[in-house]
Amino acid sequence: MKIFNTLSKRKEDFVPLEPGKVKMYVCGPTVYNYIHIGNARPMIVFDTVRRYFEYKGYEVNYVSNFTDVDDKIINKAIEEGVDASVISERYIAECKKDMAGMNVKPATTHPLATQEIPGMISMIETLIEKGYAYAVSDGTVYYRTRKFKDYGKLSHKNLDDLQSGFREIKVTGEEKEDPLDFVLWKPKKDGEPYWDAPWCKGRPGWHIECSVMSKHYLGDQIDIHAGGEDLIFPHHENEIAQSEAANGKEFARYWMHNAFLNIDNKKMSKSLGNFFTVREISEQYDLQVLRFFMLSAHYRSPLNFSADLMEASKNGLTRILTAVERLAELSAAASGGELTEEERALEGQVKELVDKYEAAMDDDFNTADAISAVFELVKFANTSVWETSTKAFVDDVKKTIEKLCDVLGIITEKKEELLDGEIEALIEERQQARKDKNFARADEIRDILAEKGILLKDTREGVKWTRA
Ligand code: AMP
Ligand code: ZN
Repeated sequence: MKIFNTLSKRKEDFVPLEPGKVKMYVCGPTVYNYIHIGNARPMIVFDTVRRYFEYKGYEVNYVSNFTDVDDKIINKAIEEGVDASVISERYIAECKKDMAGMNVKPATTHPLATQEIPGMISMIETLIEKGYAYAVSDGTVYYRTRKFKDYGKLSHKNLDDLQSGFREIKVTGEEKEDPLDFVLWKPKKDGEPYWDAPWCKGRPGWHIECSVMSKHYLGDQIDIHAGGEDLIFPHHENEIAQSEAANGKEFARYWMHNAFLNIDNKKMSKSLGNFFTVREISEQYDLQVLRFFMLSAHYRSPLNFSADLMEASKNGLTRILTAVERLAELSAAASGGELTEEERALEGQVKELVDKYEAAMDDDFNTADAISAVFELVKFANTSVWETSTKAFVDDVKKTIEKLCDVLGIITEKKEELLDGEIEALIEERQQARKDKNFARADEIRDILAEKGILLKDTREGVKWTRA
């Protein structure tokens, strides 16, 4: 199995620290709003990486944090006049709903930064003892970047180039020794959450959080550390500096980074305002379509979001689900527990396509090519499995497609549920039908909705609906 390692900028053979086990850490979202579909890309991509390791028989310890203390969370809390924890708890719960909709498995552990403060204080103390960090008079603690000889090894940046970049930037706090030094602990400001620490009442810097959560749940050394490519510098570079200086060991063997999800060829981001939330997409599409769309490109290639590509993904996915549905019907009617001779020959083709799929996934998780292999298998099913096939053969083809789809996180059973957007469109159509005195259609729509367990209620603000 080969993985492109950002450290070496090459594809490398995957060799686990411990045979049969994978320890991986994926930087999670900052929870101050609904997640957008850009944030969904690393979730889907690295969940698929995890699933493929599991398919290969590895035991995966998968840790992904929620950053639940941050300026943006604090600002939102001030805006709403509530405690910061109200905001972070709300959006963690919403994020978990979106993850479930996208069939992203819950991590082995989802640590919260605010629950890990003692570990952070302890790592900062170690860094100070070892001379890698220093506190200034207001209680801010900085990391002494130049002291860490390997600084820049992940982002392939040179300290002097970085230094010249910093010349323009105003250095706050004259006691900071070097513009390259970054914050490990900062003093509290009025109205902000804070914790007691030896240097001042305050809160941790963002980078130390991940170093500590990774150490707590996975140990000093891990196999894979992952996230979006915007995290390479400074976040992951700083994590390496902290963890390796404190623990005295190489931190992560492989660093994996997904490329951006773009819209009109610009990065989708909250700050640019050019984003769709996962929740918005779920009103129009089953989130499986979003997942399938994300995996239709290699994770290191930029991916442009568009309605056309989503429609294409929807059609592709339907093709797979329809084929599996047909196989289920054939299986129910079929008999015969032994393959015929002809079927044994055909099995060879199934095996070849499975090999093709695995070869694609073994090559740095090339999900785009893996999906092509699934489509070939679907074509095979549609042209080589018939009413005359034995049950053994039908089931074998069906199970193979299901298993390969499961690695991609695609559930092959067709969902009968209506999407929120479809329900709203039907309700609107029913209102119009009533206005037009087309009561037959209005009743028909009411029945369709009732059959799907959608309850309607007329209120002064219009029709409200709930799922039974
Ligand atoms: P954030 O909440 O901004 O810290 O982001 C959480 C994760 O989403 C990080 O791994 C980011 O790199 C990733 N991410 C944010 N925006 C995008 C995007 N447009 N495309 C791909 N990944 C993204
Ligand atoms: Zn992180």
